[in-house]
Amino acid sequence: MNDICLMNLRELFLRHVAQTSDGPLGLEIVKAEGSVLYDVNGKEYIDLVGGISVANTGHRHPAVTDAIKKQVDSYLHIMVYGEFVESPQVQYAKLLTDHLPATLNSVYFTNSGAEAVEGAMKLAKRFTNRTRIIAFKKAYHGSTQGSLSIIGDEYWRNAFRPLLPDIIHSDYGTLDSLKEITEQTACVIAETIQGEAGVVSPSKEWMKELRERCTSTGTLLILDEIQAGFGRSGKLWGFQHFDIVPDILLLGKALGGGMPLGAFIADKKIMSSLTNRPELGHITTFGGHPVSCSAGAAAMKVLLDEKLVESVKSKENLFLSLLVHPKIKSVRTSGLWLAIEFDSFETNKKIIDACIQDGILTDWFLFAPQCLRISPSLIISEEQICKAATIILKNCDL
Ligand code: PLP
Repeated sequence: MNDICLMNLRELFLRHVAQTSDGPLGLEIVKAEGSVLYDVNGKEYIDLVGGISVANTGHRHPAVTDAIKKQVDSYLHIMVYGEFVESPQVQYAKLLTDHLPATLNSVYFTNSGAEAVEGAMKLAKRFTNRTRIIAFKKAYHGSTQGSLSIIGDEYWRNAFRPLLPDIIHSDYGTLDSLKEITEQTACVIAETIQGEAGVVSPSKEWMKELRERCTSTGTLLILDEIQAGFGRSGKLWGFQHFDIVPDILLLGKALGGGMPLGAFIADKKIMSSLTNRPELGHITTFGGHPVSCSAGAAAMKVLLDEKLVESVKSKENLFLSLLVHPKIKSVRTSGLWLAIEFDSFETNKKIIDACIQDGILTDWFLFAPQCLRISPSLIISEEQICKAATIILKNCDL
């Protein structure tokens, strides 16, 4: 008998799979479908996390799994990114750019969100010949050295110093922060809506001023929509709420339809500065993997064909109408992205744990541990929303 039969899988997970915290959720899921997860004991969970804004079209949408199977039967990895004409990449880049403003017409596919952030920072430095980067407090952009350098929380950055130089962390949404953007700034990088801060939207005025200040100083505006994209906020792209267009758009998470994929997207005029001097200055082996691109394109077609974005507002309102309780201090929302705020992490954690016991999977936010996370698939039904809200409210009474 092998070790897996002799030992509990959870023990093996703790022993052999590198751990990111002392308290992993540790659920053993054997199947996921739509908005429901099934554990090894047959227990069902309504998934309010959606893989952290990945499963926007639900888990294992048949159109996505069919596209994956079809691609697997044609080819997997064949050559490093950018050398061969790979139909899944080309088709997906076309689909994405067809649904973006005309200046976002060139897609560089990566493996992950953090890699998209890294690529965009390099592109901005290369294009502007400047080095300074302005990022924002409470922003999350990833865990690699470059993306860690720009995240907006010293607790997470400090242990890994020295990080990238010439970075300013500014106050998100404040007019004062815009004064820091000068002719020395290569780029400003902002989440269109801050996710890990607990779903924080800036004002339209601020976004417009930010756009103008970047334009007037020749600074590139990078908007990170790795969580906010693909309908999460109630529009296909978060920046559509603000009537602005970034110079570089970052996508990830839902981009791959459940497969690993990231992208930075810009105008060809900007993107072409990565093509030479040095040639091959930004390369990746697996970026834009054909299976990931096939899955992502299928998921995006589902999002569009099934008009999922149009259903977001009423589902957001349903959650909002139900989530009323003396223990709930506030509910911040941006589409099907909600942060329910309690008085402390301890209160929140108690409610999260009780919800999981009751078959509702939820979580907290990295920079807002007192807030309970709701970022389900956009196909979640009204019945599932009512059930989830009833259980959250029941556990608020604990
Ligand atoms: N940017 C944002 C806004 C994110 O939420 C994340 C991940 O949570 C990232 C970047 C990093 O993406 P990845 O974990 O795929 O590297």
